[in-house]
Amino acid sequence: MKKIEDYIRTIPNFPEEGVMFRDISTVLSDKDGLRMAVDQMAAALGDEDFDIVIGPESRGFIFGVPIAYNMHKAFVPVRKKGKLPGETVSVEYDLEYGSAELEVHKDAIKPGDKVVIVDDLIATGGTTEAICKLIEKLGGKVAKIVFLIELEGLKGREKLKNYDMVSIVKYP
Ligand code: AMP
Repeated sequence: MKKIEDYIRTIPNFPEEGVMFRDISTVLSDKDGLRMAVDQMAAALGDEDFDIVIGPESRGFIFGVPIAYNMHKAFVPVRKKGKLPGETVSVEYDLEYGSAELEVHKDAIKPGDKVVIVDDLIATGGTTEAICKLIEKLGGKVAKIVFLIELEGLKGREKLKNYDMVSIVKYP
């Protein structure tokens, strides 16, 4: 029986020298891989009590929507600055070079909402930390964070130590 890691393709030196890119497109392009990934991420939520799945563009959408659909919850997209048409809240966060800004619609999360964050991969944890801030700015509570892949060497887990975080496949 194949495991999720068997479907993940590693491409060295992409997008730049020294990066081992963990490509999930080969998980998605296999009917068993896709089902296994979504099912295991949903199972990691157990019987967690929550209202909303939130995911960042673009790979957070890919896994977030089927998980929300399967569990009969709402999905809220987080997008890069300037893409969402309604009134937004935004948060700036540091990248290796420079910074970026993420936004969410103001009316998408209400005070007291319990929110699960879903993304394909945690590297430094910077993106997810920014999403936690967005949720909290709107009065929501981060109930749990689920990743398909964790790059343990980049210590993103330490950045999220105040949150309940799980990952399915770990690379050192
Ligand atoms: P970070 O904010 O550092 O946790 O990284 C955020 C996003 O960058 C992840 O959700 C991935 O989509 C992407 N990413 C970073 N490193 C890798 C990698 N080695 N392979 C594939 N995607 C990556």
